[in-house]
Amino acid sequence: MDFDWTEEQLELRRGAVEFASRRLVDGTTERDRAGVFPRELWAACAEFGLQGVLVPEPWNGGGQDLLSAVAILEGIGYGARDNGIVFSVTAHAASCEGPLAAFGNDAQKDEWLPGLADGSVIGATGVTEPDSGSNALGLETTAVEDRGGWVLDGAKTFVTNAPVADLFVIYARTGGSGFAGLTCFLVPRQTEGLTVGPPMEKMGLRTSPISQVYLDSCRLPASAVLGGVASGAMIFNQTMDVERLLVMAPAIGVMERILERSVAHARQRTAGPVAIGKHQAISHRIADMELGLEASRLLLYRAAWQRMRRGTAPKESALAKLAVSEAYVESCRSAVQIFGGYGYMVDYELERELRDALATTLYVGTSEIQRNLIAGLRGL
Ligand SMILES: Cc1cc2nc3c(=O)[nH]c(=O)nc-3n(C[C@H](O)[C@H](O)[C@H](O)COP(=O)(O)OP(=O)(O)OC[C@H]3O[C@@H](n4cnc5c(N)ncnc54)[C@H](O)[C@@H]3O)c2cc1C
Repeated sequence: MDFDWTEEQLELRRGAVEFASRRLVDGTTERDRAGVFPRELWAACAEFGLQGVLVPEPWNGGGQDLLSAVAILEGIGYGARDNGIVFSVTAHAASCEGPLAAFGNDAQKDEWLPGLADGSVIGATGVTEPDSGSNALGLETTAVEDRGGWVLDGAKTFVTNAPVADLFVIYARTGGSGFAGLTCFLVPRQTEGLTVGPPMEKMGLRTSPISQVYLDSCRLPASAVLGGVASGAMIFNQTMDVERLLVMAPAIGVMERILERSVAHARQRTAGPVAIGKHQAISHRIADMELGLEASRLLLYRAAWQRMRRGTAPKESALAKLAVSEAYVESCRSAVQIFGGYGYMVDYELERELRDALATTLYVGTSEIQRNLIAGLRGL
């Protein structure tokens, strides 16, 4: 067993911290308040190579392996403050680029991957519907074969990046109920019959835009099918393995940064004759933050390693997603508590971190769904 990063991976992480602390910090509080998508920061991330980090080099990507991508994203989380733009980038990379790179044919990859990798095309994915969230395989959007193409009808909700996206990966029902009934489609924004609803206002991650997407007699050519008819559920499961890791990797960096701030505050802030860190109630909180960070980190690295080695890691990625998201929320809550009244104030930027963190226990499968998955693999 070898727990060392290579010198190259450490350099990638250092570069990510440097970039994120230089470009993804200033003005975060104001952007969060305004709830606007910062296009200039999207472009800066693209110039740094973040959007295309996993895209193979022939399509203008960085061609990194999954563990190296995790190292980079951890560094981004550590350096950045704008968790919203980071989430928009990871959602784009994991849920749109990922399935396209893995299951697209050469024509689809040639058409879309270079733009997605350099950030000039923004990607989104629509799985969730108003009446099917956790029960993703129960989605009701239909795709019916017609004159050599397909006609899609339905509605998607909570589609990250939808207000600004150019390309949607849409999951629709082409057959009967359940696993074999789903197919994945590539739907460009300008397709007739596709409309994007107004931006939905969120509690956190407010610089990452989200909205509903409506498909009303939305006609697509046969070439819009991604990975073959009836392979939607397989693509969904394969994509989820990696998506859980990519969207959670920045949280490791955020947790480390918040832990460092909390330690510094616990050393310096006095209440009575001693620093608050001398009170066991506070120091044990810090110890628990450290435990949550290190346990999450190991599970995440292990899941990425397993996925790279074996090509599949459903249990490992579900365990990592569950552990990181729950520890992340707990860490932010502890930081607010350690900072006392200051922690509740916007200027201290911890209340925003807590609001941002809460989303991680919901998206890419809620914590309950990760537990179901883990228990299900034990036959329960
Ligand atoms: C910030 C954000 C970004 C998102 N981005 C996207 C996106 O880009 N694309 C997309 O398609 N979706 C996206 N989603 C949607 C997300 O995947 C769903 O919100 C999530 O799957 C839960 O579905 P739901 O909201 O319908 O909740 P429900 O499924 O209605 O669940 C409600 C509650 O019941 C629990 N529950 C449901 N079923 C079970 C069960 N079988 N066992 C135990 N508990 C259960 C859930 O865990 C939850 O606590 C996003 C959501 C958020 C918050």
